[in-house]
Amino acid sequence: MPKLDPTRRQALKGMGAGALAATALPRLATADPEFPPGSVIRTLSKDYAPSELAGGATLFHEHMSLRNGFMVDWMRYAGETRTANQAPGTPARPPAGAGAGAPTAAPNFLVDEDLMADEMAIAKREGIGCIVDAGHPDMGRDVGFLRRISQRSGLPIVASAGFYTQPFYPKDLGAWSEDRVFEEVMQQVRANPTGALGEIGSWDYITKDERKVFRAIARVHKASNIPIFTHTGIPGKSALEQLDILEDGGVDPHRVVIGHLGNLVDASAEIQRAIIRRGAYIGIDRQGGGGDAQVVPMIASLIAQGYADHLMFSSDLSSPREIKRNNPTGGYAKTLTVFVPKLKAAGASDVDLHKIMYDNPRRFLAFVPKIKRTT
Ligand SMILES: [Zn+2]
Repeated sequence: MPKLDPTRRQALKGMGAGALAATALPRLATADPEFPPGSVIRTLSKDYAPSELAGGATLFHEHMSLRNGFMVDWMRYAGETRTANQAPGTPARPPAGAGAGAPTAAPNFLVDEDLMADEMAIAKREGIGCIVDAGHPDMGRDVGFLRRISQRSGLPIVASAGFYTQPFYPKDLGAWSEDRVFEEVMQQVRANPTGALGEIGSWDYITKDERKVFRAIARVHKASNIPIFTHTGIPGKSALEQLDILEDGGVDPHRVVIGHLGNLVDASAEIQRAIIRRGAYIGIDRQGGGGDAQVVPMIASLIAQGYADHLMFSSDLSSPREIKRNNPTGGYAKTLTVFVPKLKAAGASDVDLHKIMYDNPRRFLAFVPKIKRTT
């Protein structure tokens, strides 16, 4: 939190943490961005005109539903990948998070409806107006569960479609044609109101099957107009190639977020700037915790260079250690309540931060539907 002057501190006395968080980034009376005529933000409850969601910040990449065992598998694959990528002779590192309190040992909070309805209600109080769930069937995302926690909390949730990364693909995806992958994702898009294609990823170095999925996703985008956000594995490695494949498939980079680029810490921000110059957004999307310190100078510098229009913040929340019930400074709003104040302290202006938290995600999510919503 930034230091408050005594008058402001007095004014905030007696207000809840939510109100304090909201004042960390006031909703400014700036003009709403222009959205394409007829565009909507497609949430599970309804299609919103983008301006209807101007009252809160939008988070473009979070997890509210994952199957039992998903994070256990995720940690195991991450550990194996790191070991495989080390030069011969270097000692193998244990998987991140191994040990007491690791997600592997905890019950899966992402199937606990009462808890998640509470977490969503708290995020809403803390200033979040809309939130995107980044899961899909191969991650065991449960659309019914997302609908219920959205209804109970009153927080609009956008559901996604796609395939995640090689280790999580259906076993026989390797044998599928690109047409088949396209049809499978189209089926997902038709089965539920779908507001985003994501997270679409490469786990490590991008594989043949992952390239096939990216080509198919470009075609789904062309057929549906739904925006795309990605997952990059080894920090930054496949970022440019992901954008290449999507662009080769005819996708306008402005409709794409290349994700997890806060994991690539580089003072010159070479890859990040290359992607921005091509017109895409970059996802700084694992924020609001220990990794912030390294990222803040790089992002503050990108903002100072005038790139705020292309930045997208979120937290990719998936660990029980990060939820409000277990961590008073955590919760789904932590991008807004924890990360944003650090950027303010590093010199970023309210106007730029407002653009990033309130406007960019709505500009990204707004699309003119080519497929009618099912329900
Ligand atoms: Zn994610």
